[in-house]
Amino acid sequence: MKKTAFLRLLSLLLCIFLLMGTLTSCDLLDSVLGGFFGQTEEEPDNDKKDGSGLPLKGEECQTEETDNDKKDDQSSVTLASIPPFTDKAYVALNGNQPNFTDADKKRGAFEEFAELDSLGRCGVTFANVCKELMPTEARESIGAVKPTGWQTVKYDIVDGKYLYNRCHLIGFQLTGENANKQNLITGTRYLNIDGMLGFENLVADYVKETGNHVLYRVTPIFVGNELVARGVVMEGWSVEDNGEGVCFNVFAYNNQPGITIDYKTGESHLMTEAEKQAVQEAIDLSKTEEEPAGDPTGEGEQPAPETEQTDPAAEEETETFILNTSKHTFHLPTCSSVKQMSDKNKQEYTGTRLDLLEEGYSPCGSCKP
Ligand SMILES: [Zn+2]
Repeated sequence: MKKTAFLRLLSLLLCIFLLMGTLTSCDLLDSVLGGFFGQTEEEPDNDKKDGSGLPLKGEECQTEETDNDKKDDQSSVTLASIPPFTDKAYVALNGNQPNFTDADKKRGAFEEFAELDSLGRCGVTFANVCKELMPTEARESIGAVKPTGWQTVKYDIVDGKYLYNRCHLIGFQLTGENANKQNLITGTRYLNIDGMLGFENLVADYVKETGNHVLYRVTPIFVGNELVARGVVMEGWSVEDNGEGVCFNVFAYNNQPGITIDYKTGESHLMTEAEKQAVQEAIDLSKTEEEPAGDPTGEGEQPAPETEQTDPAAEEETETFILNTSKHTFHLPTCSSVKQMSDKNKQEYTGTRLDLLEEGYSPCGSCKP
């Protein structure tokens, strides 16, 4: 009898414990998703400021609003509140205002990477970027890291051919985190370059110019048990000047124009005519609602697609290249444009050509490395 009563008590306690655990994790998830996705429907016009969503330097950044109040109202918000991908690499969230707390804003330099989840997927990456965290050594090969959903697959319509890059959540140029598997996801070339690079450069340039700190958080968004993220939420806020220099909150799509991705597995195929048509209809619809977008990075320069066939064996050999970390191109050390490159964008790299291509780097059209 005693034993039965004890067992009943034990199972009751277990139930309560499980229930509490479930509630807590749901609340956390809701507040995180709510914070990120909550405000887009209420402020549909907020990404029109410069036609691209990329914040302009000196753009007003409101910091007085209390984030906690907002989060409480967002318990039912899901990924569905993000507009479907059309032809823009990212959209502003929450009026382009990041969701950092007052406590976050008082922290010193730090970098944090979430433990991989039970499926091996990355979580939130968060740093207070400053000069001390920035890399002083050349990057090393990250080819050994295989993020969830990883597939090595090439398409002629993708710049550099490789659909997927090993995509740093917090860019190497910001904290020097390189072959850290808690910081690398399977990301399309389009996400890496069109979606994320402009914001990484913005933060890096600002920190180098001012010596100030930038709170910077990148959160991959996975749906259910999918192995490939649908996109990343990127938030940035410059600390010393209260967001005057850097202030953004965007969702960057892990899509690739012309290609359909199965986010459960990472498998992909060229879009069928029907799929293309559906995308075109969505684009037409969005065009009737919005002004045309400008060039997000202001550089106006796209790396030329690689047209010639490369020898796969040559791609696996270790060599020394010179990287332009701003343009995401790589050169032979003897290339004439290496001399013209500014020191802050120049980086020596020893590794394989394949690694560079998979990371989203393009070979220089002149020295053809
Ligand atoms: Zn070159």
